[in-house]
Amino acid sequence: MIVILKQNPNRDQLESLIAWLQEKGVTIHTSIGEANTILGLVGDTSKLDIDLIAALDIVEDVKRVQEPYKNANRKFHPEDTVIQVRDTRIGGGTLTLMAGPCSVESEDQVVAIAKAVKAAGATMLRGGAFKPRTSPYAFQGLGATGLEYLKVARQETGLPIVTELMDITQLPLFKDVDVIQIGARNMQNFDLLKAVGHQDKPVMIKRGMSATYEEWLMSAEYVMASGNENVILCERGIRTFESYTRNTLDIAAIPVLRTLTHLPIIIDPSHATGKYWLVEPMSRAAVAAGADGLQIEVHNDPAHALCDGPQSLKPEIFAPLAQKLLKLHEAVRALD
Ligand code: PEP
Ligand code: MN
Repeated sequence: MIVILKQNPNRDQLESLIAWLQEKGVTIHTSIGEANTILGLVGDTSKLDIDLIAALDIVEDVKRVQEPYKNANRKFHPEDTVIQVRDTRIGGGTLTLMAGPCSVESEDQVVAIAKAVKAAGATMLRGGAFKPRTSPYAFQGLGATGLEYLKVARQETGLPIVTELMDITQLPLFKDVDVIQIGARNMQNFDLLKAVGHQDKPVMIKRGMSATYEEWLMSAEYVMASGNENVILCERGIRTFESYTRNTLDIAAIPVLRTLTHLPIIIDPSHATGKYWLVEPMSRAAVAAGADGLQIEVHNDPAHALCDGPQSLKPEIFAPLAQKLLKLHEAVRALD
């Protein structure tokens, strides 16, 4: 349920309304917007008398929220969520460019790529240290050592790092990363979602390969209900009957999520297509449709990459693309 307050509500009346609601056992999330303040009520609201609340002097309107996701719901929080990560902001009209290798392979590799993508205009460095691989015989990532190399690359470039957490037991190692990525295969690992909800680093949740918008938003809800509101959603393609591309990029996710939620939306055209030459057109489509950013795999030697070489861009291909995307983003914003 949401309670929309009139402008400049009387403080005493507001405090007594909040105390009364809390007595009824509901948790209250206050969202202060430019026009209105909204109280988002979570918990068993079935016994609350809507008419009684609506009749209060300070109340403009009361609405039941049918969707099962509450904290992630735009009705609870009409303004876009903007997440500050070191010197960069995700959401709120910015274009975040996360770029880097699929996997961290060595210190030299990740530092060289970080320098190249930074020079090209990237705002964050991606790189997997713990890798979820379909085959147990494939390269599994450098683990804790990979995280150390990412931190060296951050030190060298100033780029914040985003990297995947696969298991709760790894969480202590992630204290010094900037954004924790939850991979598609773990989107419904509820214990993992609760664990990242109990810490304060921003969390980027990639869409499960067969997850509906509602299931995906419920995963965000797990993190938010555990206390961490800094959640980013990343569409990375879904499994369809088409096998030419690795997955099928769901561009409609951008406007749909924009309506359903206030959380920032990132598009990963690399895993969505599996082909480096599709990264540019899909990135353009994502920016044109209003994405808050992209996550793009970049490798200095894709032919010899230990993971996902065929979908990785060389730095010299990424550089002009980044500039085009920034220009396109400006042009798209100018239309609104
Ligand atoms: C990745 O970003 O490295 C990755 C494994 O992505 P996804 O979880 O979307 O497959
Ligand atoms: Mn990859």
